[in-house]
Amino acid sequence: MNERSGARQRGYGTAWEKARAGHLRNHPFCVRCEAVGVVALATVVNHRTPHRGDKKLFWDKKNWESVCEQHHNSAAQREDNRGYSGAVGADGWPTDPRHPGMKG
Ligand SMILES: [Zn+2]
Repeated sequence: MNERSGARQRGYGTAWEKARAGHLRNHPFCVRCEAVGVVALATVVNHRTPHRGDKKLFWDKKNWESVCEQHHNSAAQREDNRGYSGAVGADGWPTDPRHPGMKG
């Protein structure tokens, strides 16, 4: 009996690893840094719309964006709760067009 294999990968697995690596090869720079004129190597593929286990959203390449570690940790996580990114660019303005501060 080996019940531990279920915890190995929660739907991610090698297919995602390959897809992620491919996306990072094609889009090597953080799109959120790029939006504010900063060039930073992306290390993570983030889902623009949190997939919350939805396979269609998860595998939708249009829903992917390359981000750096910092943006993935800070912005992406908070975005999950609020619906927009709290990231602020070098000019002090939010980088996410969905941010309430970007209206007008
Ligand atoms: Zn970044």
